[in-house]
Amino acid sequence: MKTLNDFNFADKKAIIRVDFNVPLNENFEVTDATRIQAAKPTIIKVLEDGGSCVLMSHLGRPKGKEDKFSLRHIIEDIEKIIGCEVRFVDDCVGEKAEEAANKLENGEILLLENLRFHEEETKGDVAFAEQLSKLGDIYINDAFGTAHRAHASTTIIAQFFGKNKCFGSLLAREIESIDKVLNNSEKPVLAVLGGAKVSSKITVIENILDKVDHLIIGGGMTFTFIKAQGGKVGNSICEDDKLDLALDILKQAKNKNVQVHIAVDVIAADAFSNDANTQVIDVTQIPDGWQGLDAGPNSLAKFDEVVNSCKTILWNGPLGVFEMENFAKGTIALGNSIANATKNGAFSLVGGGDSVAAVKQFGFEDKVSYVSTGGGAMLESLEGKTLPGIEAILK
Ligand code: AMP
Repeated sequence: MKTLNDFNFADKKAIIRVDFNVPLNENFEVTDATRIQAAKPTIIKVLEDGGSCVLMSHLGRPKGKEDKFSLRHIIEDIEKIIGCEVRFVDDCVGEKAEEAANKLENGEILLLENLRFHEEETKGDVAFAEQLSKLGDIYINDAFGTAHRAHASTTIIAQFFGKNKCFGSLLAREIESIDKVLNNSEKPVLAVLGGAKVSSKITVIENILDKVDHLIIGGGMTFTFIKAQGGKVGNSICEDDKLDLALDILKQAKNKNVQVHIAVDVIAADAFSNDANTQVIDVTQIPDGWQGLDAGPNSLAKFDEVVNSCKTILWNGPLGVFEMENFAKGTIALGNSIANATKNGAFSLVGGGDSVAAVKQFGFEDKVSYVSTGGGAMLESLEGKTLPGIEAILK
């Protein structure tokens, strides 16, 4: 795996695909700069070696050139975080961009305008990728969040750099973390899969069964499994067309010697609302009119024991409707269990959309080993796919 350390960037222009797809408020101010922070080590390495950086990213999903999606809005944030001036060019290809890149001196940063102002970017257009490639000597991909897309700047561009391409430090850490869980893991290995639906996680579950010793199935998925085994789930979220699939997963798990843990009790509510009446109830005995919205205390005690018996832990998806305070306890308790196991030497990886949000919201970010920056990219990695953006660098 070629990383930054395989290169000396002195007198070199690095063209870096970063993920600066940051949230902006109505005044076009950055409300969460995590992704800019995450790109800092790669940028600093190039500058400290004595090279220069051409940064390219997308922002949002513009239809053509739309000023509200201009990367101009985030220049000051980048300057503050990196600690040096950022030049900007209002296109990412063509004469203007080439002139700006040519003028760039060692130690300087140039930010290109939003890649997605050109539809060729998402189409993976080869000629467009070739135009981008003219702006740098070495290509670095540091955007895990888009590594599952075969776009011009994330994948296609790599073919124009021969051996002069590598992973940035963020992308390298993502790859190493996933590898540590899926391939080079210390046993016992646990995956906690929560979230709303079995259907969105099915490929992950099937791939992961070959890799883990324990599987905790939590969140809304619980009820499809409980109903499939004959339990009463009341009005809980349940995919009736996935009952056979749930039974098949349990059978596969048994054949593969994977111990599956599902909630034994839940916090049931009489409405999907934070103010609903609640009761703690056996997960197989939920009356009509009630729905399970969080894991119950006996389930959490059981999960805590499993988590703390494992040396490698993957967490994807919340245990309950954590967006509502009254149904966040299960997710918080699981976070605490994982934090404790990590403190005692386990490797823990949190990845995929909502669990990352939960980890941040409840302050577990520094208490787990690694929090992934890519939602879709993480899920596809867990499904066992090789991401095109990663493959392009390895070629
Ligand atoms: P996912 O994106 O698949 O990881 O799903 C995350 C969503 O699952 C969150 O918005 C949670 O509110 C939701 N969720 C978790 N547990 C439940 C549940 N018991 N009933 C309904 N939704 C749930």
